[in-house]
Amino acid sequence: MVARARLRTNLYTVTLERMQGDRTRPTICKRMARHLVVIVSTASWAGACEPASCRDEPVSQPRLSSLHSGFVPPNPGERQIGLGTTHGLSDVLTRSFAVSDSFRPMPTPAPGEWLAEFRETGQSFNQFVEARPNRASPHRRTIYILPIDPEQDGGRWLRESPERPDSRPFDRVSTAVLAEYAGLFYDLPVRVLPRITAVEVGARGRINRFSKQRQLLSTDILAYLEKKLPHDARALIGLTTIDLYPEPAWNFVFGQASLSKRVGVYSLARYHHPAFYGESSAAAQEVDALVLRRSLKVLVHELGHMFGVEHCIYYLCVMNGSNHLRETDAQPLHLCPIDLRKLHHSIGFEPLARYRNLGSFYREHGLDEEARWIERRMAEIAGIGAE
Ligand SMILES: [Zn+2]
Ligand SMILES: [Zn+2]
Repeated sequence: MVARARLRTNLYTVTLERMQGDRTRPTICKRMARHLVVIVSTASWAGACEPASCRDEPVSQPRLSSLHSGFVPPNPGERQIGLGTTHGLSDVLTRSFAVSDSFRPMPTPAPGEWLAEFRETGQSFNQFVEARPNRASPHRRTIYILPIDPEQDGGRWLRESPERPDSRPFDRVSTAVLAEYAGLFYDLPVRVLPRITAVEVGARGRINRFSKQRQLLSTDILAYLEKKLPHDARALIGLTTIDLYPEPAWNFVFGQASLSKRVGVYSLARYHHPAFYGESSAAAQEVDALVLRRSLKVLVHELGHMFGVEHCIYYLCVMNGSNHLRETDAQPLHLCPIDLRKLHHSIGFEPLARYRNLGSFYREHGLDEEARWIERRMAEIAGIGAE
């Protein structure tokens, strides 16, 4: 119980109740919370967003140095404790979770980065197991994605298929591509539900005073999703092109998930507008890859939380916290060995087959860096200890 209590008060868990009195940054919950909610990614603390600076727009107000989190990156021994003993595992699993050059240990964070701003204690593999995470069962395996469209917004809907229609919609990735990736990453069946409109969700909204864009209240969407959770759902995630905000004092939030109720929502609004981030001059292909990469990162990061995986402090990893979009862009799309082991414990996939499938996806979608990483990784697993 002690371990679980510690986990449930982990520093990244943020209660909306506690945020009410703080207009600039999330307040970290120091006690057991009945309804834990994770703010998935960046929420602006103040000010209108100038295109060139948006990638640095932080979740928190810049702190005085005396308030620095004091984070010290784990040393090799601490990373080994994070992984736990691999005694008794098969050869392939032992190699899959072994330390290798494919994983970069967490460096000292730069000022303004997540771990410089937020005190995080990390979640070891053993702590994850003790917390009895949301595990797949034969009756509860499916990841559901629910597209939530604007009822009228000049065609800014989520495309269903990868093929581009002549009149190009707002977004650059399709629900089919996202669903395919989630299925490969988590080795679980994924279903895209029939799209609904924001009106059907009944979420409250507003016009953001800085962007002048419409936003929906994310907590209202979570409440709606809870009522719609299919009986065989491992997780239900709402996906929208409409900007979100978690409560009136906040500017925006990229996404939000409940740890306990298997529901979450995230918005692609700010990933899918190159001009918003000053990237309109980049080649279309590069922008496509960047937007796809961001969308995939936030999707699997979000789902990871819904499966009980907390922010990673051990390695550069897709489960790292991120204080601004530039930090997100610098983080990899893969899981570190410790979080890979958590996922394996939870789902039980075959590591090489999973990597092979992900490699095919990356090649098909022009994510060359990730494809090369997968190739190195597979060679490593096949080669380590082979002689
Ligand atoms: Zn997160
Ligand atoms: Zn990790």
